[in-house]
Amino acid sequence: MSATPTHLDDIGALARQGALFVINHSGGKDSQCQTIEVLRVVPRAQVLVVHATLGDIEWPGALELARDQAADAGVPFVVAEGRWRDGSRKTLLGMVEAQFARRPEVPSWPSSDARYCTSDLKRNPIAREIRAWARPRGFSIIVSVEGIRAAESAKRARDKPFELMGRQYTNSVWAWYRWLPIHAFSTDEVFASIEAAGQRPHWAYAEGNERLSCLFCVFGSANDWAHAAERAPGIAARYRALERMTGYTAHQNRRPIDEIVAAGRTRLIDRRAVLPIAAE
Ligand code: SF4
Repeated sequence: MSATPTHLDDIGALARQGALFVINHSGGKDSQCQTIEVLRVVPRAQVLVVHATLGDIEWPGALELARDQAADAGVPFVVAEGRWRDGSRKTLLGMVEAQFARRPEVPSWPSSDARYCTSDLKRNPIAREIRAWARPRGFSIIVSVEGIRAAESAKRARDKPFELMGRQYTNSVWAWYRWLPIHAFSTDEVFASIEAAGQRPHWAYAEGNERLSCLFCVFGSANDWAHAAERAPGIAARYRALERMTGYTAHQNRRPIDEIVAAGRTRLIDRRAVLPIAAE
């Protein structure tokens, strides 16, 4: 495995200044790999692992994988949850229903133009947890670590692997950085890093998944939707019912769930035949 994390000089300098490195861990292979790589270069006392839970619509075992990897490494782990103003739990399907009730004339589901699932269920809850963790412990420099890779898409290839996101002047000065340690890694290098560390990726990869977060990510592949429908028919039924109720499709490609799942089945079967990871 030849790949190494990006920007190690900058990271070393921030570590010496006492920064807190917050690993955003979805439970997927890229999160797992970046955790391994970060822990090679950052002191454990300056690491926090955060998982933004999506509840029962995320792949079963994703939260547990993140939690267990953090526990095995001896670093703290917190779970971030989206919340409505009254404090009740926010869910993706609940937000779709609310969006439909508020404005039935516009598409109810998240899209690349209205990616409210990421902001409300991941980014904002994680930022809240980071503040709650960092303040009482005296951290004023935060490095948000994300497992984004250039090989995933043209858009992600344009992401900067390391940047200062901003400074906040509140009661104290806060500096926020974003670091993509495995931005240059290939998919093979991600799996190789996990294997070299003596770990196993989430079981869904061995059964054919390409990516992993929501069972039915609105940007996900037909392959992954077919697998999700096979594993979680009850969740698929809830998506189907909500598509019918709103009159809008969940996937941004504007095809209904049953059509996507049917299209993905053949690909899933083909993919399983050539998987590099042997299913147990
Ligand atoms: S996995 Fe997809 S649907 Fe789920 S929160 Fe992320 S972008 Fe939204």
